[in-house]
Amino acid sequence: MLTFDVITLFPEVIEAGTNYSIARRAQERGAAQIRTHQLREFTQDKHRKVDDVPYGGGAGMVMKLEPAAQAVRHCQQTMSGSKARIVLLEPQGILYGQSVAESFAQEEHLILLCGHYEGFDARIRETLATDVVSIGDFVLTGGELPALIVIDSVIRLLPGVLGAEESLQQDSYADGLLGYPQYTRPEEFEGIRVPEVLLSGHHGQIAQWRRQQQLRLTRALRPDLFAKANLTKDDLKLMKNRGGEE
Ligand code: SAM
Repeated sequence: MLTFDVITLFPEVIEAGTNYSIARRAQERGAAQIRTHQLREFTQDKHRKVDDVPYGGGAGMVMKLEPAAQAVRHCQQTMSGSKARIVLLEPQGILYGQSVAESFAQEEHLILLCGHYEGFDARIRETLATDVVSIGDFVLTGGELPALIVIDSVIRLLPGVLGAEESLQQDSYADGLLGYPQYTRPEEFEGIRVPEVLLSGHHGQIAQWRRQQQLRLTRALRPDLFAKANLTKDDLKLMKNRGGEE
């Protein structure tokens, strides 16, 4: 079982985001537990102060290290014997992606640290965090949405969480390419028909068409991914063969 400990000023946001759908199912099935910790509860002063003015001056408040360190210690103590990865959510981290999600899904214990205001005192990188992760090149007001993104993307990779109807294999990024397009009833909508091959019942041709679509879409929409993809000889043939394309 993977334990997520989320250290945050807004536990309600994490709870609201993980009480539904697959995240809820993962907890009910015992594949994951998600615990939230109010950072203020780990302060020592009577005002429960989690932030302070920046050294050197300037606007905004910086989050203090002592409460975060106390909170992390508390989470570690509840799981003695397992070595937690301590993940700081920050716009200045490595860019989060499917390969990081896959590596997190191998762990037993992830502690997620959500910042606010100007973020944590920079020494958190040397003293607490084992990983610093950004969910994209933009700035949010807090680390709760990034934490939910990490939790959601990791949870669906855990064994037994997705049902037969939801497959990991066909997802975008599962093999470094975008996923293939999917269609459902009706066969025609506003004059646009479902590609004929999908109605043929011919599994081999359908599989080939889907792979071809994955290759074409990735090359057109994400040339960066396409350049890195490990293509097989069959893939290269499919790329050349324009006959079967819709
Ligand atoms: N002063 C920081 C900077 O310039 O990089 C921005 C701090 S941001 C306003 C407050 C908090 O939101 C961060 O500490 C982090 O926890 C979270 N956050 C904002 N954008 C994020 C992103 N792209 N990825 C991960 N966390 C983010």
